[in-house]
Amino acid sequence: MQGTVAQPRAAIVSVGNELLYGETVDTNAAWLGRWLGELGITVVRRFTVGDRRADIDEALERALEAADLVILSGGLGPTPDDLTKSVVADHFGLGLVVVDSVVRRLEEHFRAGGYDEVPPLSLGQAELPEGAIPLRNPSGTAPGILLSRDRARIVLLPGVPHELRDIAAGDLADELDAWLGPESRHRAHHRVIHTTGLAETSLAQRLEPRLQALGREMTGGVDLAYLPDLRGVDLRFTLAGGTAQEAAERFDRLLGALDDVLGPWRFEGESGDIADALSVALRARGWRLAVAESCTGGLVGKRLTDRPGASDVFVGGVIAYDDAVKVDLLGVDRERLERDGAVSEAVARQLAKGVAERLGVETGVGVTGVAGPGGGSDEKPVGTVWISTAVQGDVEVTLHRFAGDREAVRERAAQAALASLYRRLTATSGSD
Ligand code: ATP
Ligand code: MG
Repeated sequence: MQGTVAQPRAAIVSVGNELLYGETVDTNAAWLGRWLGELGITVVRRFTVGDRRADIDEALERALEAADLVILSGGLGPTPDDLTKSVVADHFGLGLVVVDSVVRRLEEHFRAGGYDEVPPLSLGQAELPEGAIPLRNPSGTAPGILLSRDRARIVLLPGVPHELRDIAAGDLADELDAWLGPESRHRAHHRVIHTTGLAETSLAQRLEPRLQALGREMTGGVDLAYLPDLRGVDLRFTLAGGTAQEAAERFDRLLGALDDVLGPWRFEGESGDIADALSVALRARGWRLAVAESCTGGLVGKRLTDRPGASDVFVGGVIAYDDAVKVDLLGVDRERLERDGAVSEAVARQLAKGVAERLGVETGVGVTGVAGPGGGSDEKPVGTVWISTAVQGDVEVTLHRFAGDREAVRERAAQAALASLYRRLTATSGSD
């Protein structure tokens, strides 16, 4: 990483028995990790503890050893099981003092709710450790709390996820900006590239030697994260420091130099969903699509209709699960089907062609395969999937072997089907 100033390090302490019991998933820590990352603050530790004084105190101690910024989430409410504030005050030997501005906010809050006065239990929320700053909570009663001790900053936020986010995005963001300096020297810039069709390791095998060869002038200060899921791999390039403009220029140059490596796998589109990218490509040509799905059982159609406004490019399709449907509705040749089997190149070919012809559209996609867990053979093991695309009567078919359980095979097959047609449309778009 570039820059002369040490990167600020953060630790997150999540408090609540419900997190330990697994009743609540710790989405706060995940959200904070991403949010801090965008500010250029790296999260280096996460702790989860129950509503026990000794445990909260120990986690705080260890968090302070590892980080300059410690954010505690949860246990900030007015009830006796909410201990975080009192533990933090005790940890630093601070008393709790009433803060007038918080009292006034509580009065407003409860008056607006039809109360004459603040309930005594809630009034406790106006007590902050000596020297602490309240962080406004636009949607709840527990304010966030910011405490400065030497170089360290300690932040307490309520556990309720939307309250935590509102406070973070509001007062806390301003305080962190001030803490990091007006230049936002630490601010991290990101560029995310979406890829599909190549596993993470294969992608890295192609990309890493090229990055090495490009040298520091091109890659210095840039971090690359591989973010895989069943549908593909997102590549997140991060550059800390500098202006957004400078970062954009660096990213453009670097990606220009990686174009031939990433080109075959990359796809455009802000949402990162290949179904959206395909819809855009179809719309650009004024073409429509129909699907014939066997092993994906409608998943391709679902993906295309997940977002509103698909009807101008997607007309519908046939879930051709039973052989009779393949034959009767889509014109698959019964003899070929019986000879080659439903999972075969010939059947796949007829699926895409048949559905496009029968529904009278320019493009068609067909999927037939073995999703498992049963039904596999030596010749056609589980994960064998034929995918076909028809573009104005011209059909292409590809054979795939997808790894994973039934859900993974189906998800990967649907993704590959969408990607196959997208590739065909974008590969020829320059030439006509
Ligand atoms: P309140 O002011 O509402 O009392 P609090 O700080 O005491 O806030 P908690 O009582 O710990 O917060 O949690 C309130 C709610 O937020 C609960 O429903 C809890 O499950 C949820 N919650 C707490 N911590 C997290 C977390 N880390 N991630 C997601 N949800 C959480
Ligand atoms: Mg709690």
